[in-house]
Amino acid sequence: MKTPYLKEFPNKDGFFGKFGGAFVPEVIAKQMKEINEAYNLIAQNAEFINELRKIRKDFQGRPTPLYFAKNLTKKYNGAGIYLKREDLNHTGAHKLNHCMGEALLAKFMGKKKLIAETGAGQHGVALATAAAYFGMECEIHMGEVDIKKEHPNVTRMRILGAKVVPVSFGAKTLKEAVDSAFEAYLSDPINSFYAIGSVVGPHPFPKIVRDFQHIVGIEAKEQFITMTGEMPDMVVACVGGGSNAMGIFSAFIEDSYVDLVGIEPLGRSNINNVKLGEHAASLSYGSEGQMHGFNSIMLKDNKGEPASVHSVASGLDYPSVGPEHAYLHSIGRTKVDVINDKEAIEAFFTLSKMEGIIPAIESSHALAYALKVAPDLKGKKILVNLSGRGDKDIDFVVENYGYGD
Ligand SMILES: *Cc1c(COP(=O)(O)O)cnc(C)c1O
Repeated sequence: MKTPYLKEFPNKDGFFGKFGGAFVPEVIAKQMKEINEAYNLIAQNAEFINELRKIRKDFQGRPTPLYFAKNLTKKYNGAGIYLKREDLNHTGAHKLNHCMGEALLAKFMGKKKLIAETGAGQHGVALATAAAYFGMECEIHMGEVDIKKEHPNVTRMRILGAKVVPVSFGAKTLKEAVDSAFEAYLSDPINSFYAIGSVVGPHPFPKIVRDFQHIVGIEAKEQFITMTGEMPDMVVACVGGGSNAMGIFSAFIEDSYVDLVGIEPLGRSNINNVKLGEHAASLSYGSEGQMHGFNSIMLKDNKGEPASVHSVASGLDYPSVGPEHAYLHSIGRTKVDVINDKEAIEAFFTLSKMEGIIPAIESSHALAYALKVAPDLKGKKILVNLSGRGDKDIDFVVENYGYGD
């Protein structure tokens, strides 16, 4: 009998093919091993599974709906467009799915404090929420550029009781926030738990976060079949680190006739003139390398260091990508494509005005791709993971792009 994909990958050392692993100092390696052991214990424990189920239903409001975007489908006159509504998950994005799981794991391990970085602020808000729920301390590191851009989320974190640490070196965005949070974690790895915000970082995080996000794909698949009587022809998700994409893809990997498409941010570049530093499309334009404790595909500068990146979506602004995405792409199971800032903002307004749903700019990348290909796919069905809502983005969008009229 064939081993199911999710059991086979990653292997016991955290590798998806040559990608993944745990390239970290000795002290951290020891912590990662403990986290992995604790996770393996509770992942098979009925009490833990039941508590997580209860949290998802009563606290998060899961299952989130699947929505047939009838107005968009009519307008683009091609493929049917369906949205998995993670924007309706408590706190407004998919991130609470892994934060509640990570916090539950940290609590089980006897940790007192949750530490993390955040880009758009969604992971910070989700983790601050989880910390409040479980009565734990919480410290969130955030680049000063993002603090300005995503101010409502900074306020939410502080109201929820978290300490927000501004990061003022380098480009002052997501990558530096990771460096800063990691340093804070290193100062007290015994009492604190670094809750990584995506399917990145050293083993076992890419696996743990994927497993906690898997619920998105399980729900979406069942809902899709119930609603349409069929499977989707294509599943589309935006890829920053890759957690919302892995969440929804993971339920379809063995259904080889379903196209899985990850959308990376092309930023200020356009497809005929791609400039390093102006985008964050790691899988599309990167090469093999290590950062933040794992081996994957990354964007490098001419010294081989992580390149500076840009996307209008703070949550996609990362020079590497989860190792599982690197693997699935390398074996041809997933495809990647790119959407730039301008196309994402257009899709942001289109969904808002045509369906009454204001999407996160991150999610707008996935949507923009679906709208681009839909006219040529008549008779097919596209499932888009709408990873989050756009409330956090409205001030920034209006200031820079007006009301989209
Ligand atoms: C953080 C975030 C993302 C990007 O993170 P992934 O790990 O790639 O999913 C996408 N959408 C929203 C709404 C986010 O908050």
